[in-house]
Order: sequence, then structure tokens, then C-alpha cells
Amino acid sequence: MAREATEMLIAAVTPELPDTKTIRLEWPERFDPDFKTGQFITVFWPDAPGYKRAYSLSSCALDRGFYEVTIKREGRMGTRIVDWAKPGDKLGVLPPAGKFLPVYEPDKHLVCLAGGSGVTPFRGFVREATRRQLETKITVLYSVRTTNDIIFEHEFRELAQQNTNVNFYVTCTRLHEEDCWTGRRGRITADWVREQVHDMSNTIFYACGPNPLVEFAEDIVLRELGVPKPQMKTEKWG
Ligand SMILES: Cc1cc2nc3c(=O)[nH]c(=O)nc-3n(C[C@H](O)[C@H](O)[C@H](O)COP(=O)(O)OP(=O)(O)OC[C@H]3O[C@@H](n4cnc5c(N)ncnc54)[C@H](O)[C@@H]3O)c2cc1C
Repeated sequence: MAREATEMLIAAVTPELPDTKTIRLEWPERFDPDFKTGQFITVFWPDAPGYKRAYSLSSCALDRGFYEVTIKREGRMGTRIVDWAKPGDKLGVLPPAGKFLPVYEPDKHLVCLAGGSGVTPFRGFVREATRRQLETKITVLYSVRTTNDIIFEHEFRELAQQNTNVNFYVTCTRLHEEDCWTGRRGRITADWVREQVHDMSNTIFYACGPNPLVEFAEDIVLRELGVPKPQMKTEKWG
């Protein structure tokens, strides 16, 4: 059955980085969809309904009245949205879909491996767990080029302060030696991931973003750490 599109107003456009913006799409009146944190929506411009692209929700299922997606200037759709979308514009939106869902069970530990814009759905994961005061432990291991490339840094750090079950760690891959950053440097490694895990059988790994990044994470988790495949969930963007 074809999924029905809904036209939504862009209510706000928030720059996150020079090439990345969060778009808030306002739900029309009496629109009250049932969806889950971690899903993606599919959007299109009304003047080009045949050109549709998926975006992970960076808001969570407890955020009502709007969807938020966080988009990098990349390719045709990414460039059109980041460079041209403005409040008052309208986008067609297909309902949330996908199975990249946080397993919010009390004894579970979600280890989220993110690189660049692939961090977007993890904001939703951490937001929902914090607002619901869940016992689920969430660790976000986030790889960026430099300290200027961290998306949602303030919100992640604030949520980690509010929720002692949340850890947010950043590693920078392209800093110069003289740059002042006391945090971790270099890519995500198997050793770093292993350090976070205390009960492997109750740990679920997540990776999201452009294919090479997700494949890199799969290599670490499935091959180097030997984690069984059902314990890893991925969302490949292409
Ligand atoms: C489930 C899912 C969730 C996603 N969530 C997000 C998200 O949260 N945020 C986000 O930013 N994206 C996300 N994406 C990716 C998004 O759907 C688009 O693919 C992306 O915005 C690029 O737009 P496009 O497909 O129109 O690019 P196209 O124009 O079709 O290009 C596809 C790719 O080719 C490359 N490319 C295009 N033109 C050039 C060029 N001239 N030179 C070199 N390389 C080029 C780009 O790397 C681009 O990614 C998601 C994808 C999926 C499947």
C-alpha cells in the first residue's frame, strides 16, 4: 500500500555547522502520528515530487507537533535543503519508517558509534531515554574531524549531565598537535569500544551514516570484537 504524503511547513531552520542544518517540520492540525524514535522520514519538494530522500529523525517520539531532521550539504537534495530551505517553505513528507530503534530495556547498554552527521538519530535516542528517566545505559562514541564539527555538542553534554546513564565521548581525527583539546584523538578503535562494554551479552551496538562509516563500525564490532550480528543495528545512508 502506498504511504500517503503530508505537506508540512518548515517552521524553523537551525544552523548546526557551516554545512549542516536542522529543519523543523510542523505537523498540520489534527495530525497525530504514531512513530518511534530512530525512524526516518522521506521528504520531497512539492515542485519535484518524484525526487524523494530519506532523513533520520533527530527529534524523538516524545516531541509532538513537529519532526526534526538534521541534514548535511551533500548531493542534490542535501544541497537544496541546506542552501535553500527557509521558514515558510513546504515539503512533502512520507510517514516515519525503519527499524533502527533503541532497545529501551533496563539492563541493556546501547553503544552508539557515530561519525559526522551520522550522530543525528542518537540525539533522539538520548532525549527519549532522559525524558522518560529510563535505566537503559547509552554510550555515544562520536568521531569528528575537529572540535568545530561536533553536532549537538551542547545538548548531548547537557543530557549526559541530567542522565547518569548517558555517556557522550568525542574523538577528533584531524586536529593539529598544537590544537587545544584534552579529549581523545584518532579514529574509533576496537580497544576504545571494548573499554565501554562491561556486559557484552547485554550490549547492543548501533551505527548510522554514510555506508563507508557504517561498514567501518561493522568491521570493528562484528569482526574485531566478534560480536554476534543480532547485537548490532545499522542504518546505511548510501
Ligand atoms: C535511512 C536514511 C536516513 C538518512 N538520514 C540522513 C540524515 O539524517 N542526514 C543527512 O544529511 N542525510 C541522510 N541520508 C542521506 C540522504 O537521504 C541523501 O542521500 C543525501 O542528502 C544526499 O542527497 P541526494 O541523495 O539527493 O544526493 P545525490 O545527488 O543523489 O548524490 C548521492 C551521493 O553522491 C555524491 N555526490 C553527488 N554529487 C557529487 C559531486 N558532484 N561530487 C562528488 N560526490 C557527489 C554525494 O556524496 C551524495 O551523497 C539518509 C539516507 C537514508 C537512506
